[in-house]
Amino acid sequence: MRVDDAQSGAAFELIAFVTRHLACHACGTGYSADNVQVAQHHREQWTLLATCPVCTAQRAIVAYDGPPYERLETPDTIPPLPPLTAQDVREWRIFLRQFAGDLKALLSAS
Ligand SMILES: [Zn+2]
Repeated sequence: MRVDDAQSGAAFELIAFVTRHLACHACGTGYSADNVQVAQHHREQWTLLATCPVCTAQRAIVAYDGPPYERLETPDTIPPLPPLTAQDVREWRIFLRQFAGDLKALLSAS
């Protein structure tokens, strides 16, 4: 198994854990896998960002270990994201070139 496969497997497990055990702190709606993204990953520390599909409230979830995630934390504040890279800008340029929706709605949802 390649490192990437192991990492994506760990991310998949962690996202599945969040969808099973956590819900929006504002309205109580459960998350689906589409609502949970990996914001940061460094060694065994994972930071996920869950966005409520109903009220769009966001919640950070930090995990320091594997299942059953006994060291899971949900801090009140969203951790700072890493600075934008040239790769991020390239990806956004490609995305925006093809994007045909409402940019205001797109940015208010994230
Ligand atoms: Zn909610």
